[in-house]
Amino acid sequence: MTAKKEENEIAYSFFKYKETDEIHIFKGKFNPDGGCSALFKCICQKIEDRRADDITKVKTCLNEDDARQFAADKGRPVCGTCVSDLYETYS
Ligand SMILES: [Zn+2]
Repeated sequence: MTAKKEENEIAYSFFKYKETDEIHIFKGKFNPDGGCSALFKCICQKIEDRRADDITKVKTCLNEDDARQFAADKGRPVCGTCVSDLYETYS
């Protein structure tokens, strides 16, 4: 993992899965307009479909540092598998 942060920065979005009350993290890309996209699978792939009925938005479009901070602040409800990926990609 080499540092190519600026040009290739990942946008992290947090969504809560209603069924389990767990928060999962979705990776996406920043858009030029300041928004971001989110992929349809969360990092741990427990949620395959990002359907509006099943999830609620917690926080979207964070960069890596902010995502790590946000996950730390939220603590427990954030899925451990998703969170560990945040740290693995950091080098
Ligand atoms: Zn997860």
